[in-house]
Amino acid sequence: MNENRSSRKRVLVTGGAGFVGSHLVDRLLHEGNEVLCVDNLFTGSKKNIEHLHHNPLFEFMRHDITMPLYVEVDEIYNLACPASPVHYQHDPIQTTKTSVHGAINMLGLAKRLRCKIFQASTSEVYGDPSVHPQLETYWGNVNPIGPRSCYDEGKRCAETLFFDYNRQLGLSIKVARIFNTYGPRMHFADGRVISNFIVQALDGKPITLFGDGSQTRSFCYVDDLVEAMIRLMATPESVTGPINLGNPVEFTIAELAKKVIGLTGSKSELVFLPLPQDDPRQRKPDIGLARSLLNWEPVVDLDRGLARTIEFFST
Ligand code: NAD
Ligand code: UDP
Ligand code: UDP
Repeated sequence: MNENRSSRKRVLVTGGAGFVGSHLVDRLLHEGNEVLCVDNLFTGSKKNIEHLHHNPLFEFMRHDITMPLYVEVDEIYNLACPASPVHYQHDPIQTTKTSVHGAINMLGLAKRLRCKIFQASTSEVYGDPSVHPQLETYWGNVNPIGPRSCYDEGKRCAETLFFDYNRQLGLSIKVARIFNTYGPRMHFADGRVISNFIVQALDGKPITLFGDGSQTRSFCYVDDLVEAMIRLMATPESVTGPINLGNPVEFTIAELAKKVIGLTGSKSELVFLPLPQDDPRQRKPDIGLARSLLNWEPVVDLDRGLARTIEFFST
């Protein structure tokens, strides 16, 4: 007990009421840490953290990270930012502000506290990639003025800030480039492909395939991602990233639709809708770096992860 207390950390998770953040919060609490969850509830929900309200080690603060934040913590995970194209394009100026002003404030906080800070970056920094699979050394193919730019360029600028605070001020940073992740607690109206397809299949509504469905993505189950995030935070100071975190098994979106229909036993039909502008044609992480530095690789395959996610949306 005493030992636990002396090694207990107070950890800040921004975006902790969101999909990935709420799983990370659960894991950090499970390991005996105190958690301060900061979220403006734009895409997150109190429902994702309601099971924690009686936990004395958990604290929720409604706050927008584009505003300064003065708190005392030992570690910071910066996840606050809408992740679904539908939501980050809803108010693109706020999305860029969250990525850039939010990063500046969280880096300022980390600088004052001299604490480690993790950044949830994204495979979107690679844009519509001309290199496949994507390695961390690839600089990307990103449209700076398109509908996805608020997110892609915002996250790219956040990476720049993280590396400048590291080089200029010696801050300990951990930058993860997260690839498509899914699982329970995605919002039913999140707009991302896995939640859309599952909700449509369960409701017997048409499955909305954008384009011809031949574009690819590689889907990582949320528990696998959280494991990698915790391992990355625990690495020595010399490990800064950027490091790809994701599942390298690649599927076309049409294959995903078939799988969801099969696993739900749905009678839904497929409808083909126009491909959104700048939608990446293919995406698959090279996770060699994560394998060697974190001794990590995903263990939940798509069928098993989808089954758990379908169960969540069915109840
Ligand atoms: P999410 O939308 O479920 O969670 C984001 C959370 O951030 C929400 O709770 C939202 O309310 C909060 N938020 C947004 N703007 C904020 C602000 N200005 N101040 C405070 N809180 C704010 O998305 P997610 O899938 O859980 O993504 C979490 C992080 O991981 C994001 O930074 C996202 O860019 C990154 N990421 C996710 C994926 C994925 O596939 N899930 C892939 C790449 C990167
Ligand atoms: N900041 C914060 N919490 C802190 C310390 C700083 O939110 O505990 C914010 C502060 O508002 C500032 C930003 O972080 O705008 C960047 O801080 P930094 O010290 O790097 O820059 P400066 O204050 O010198 O502009
Ligand atoms: N997509 C689709 N139907 C949907 C939602 C998305 O076909 O209802 C496609 C989308 O065009 C993209 C892929 O699925 O090619 C993944 O989309 P998502 O929004 O989940 O994430 P992205 O990787 O594009 O950020």
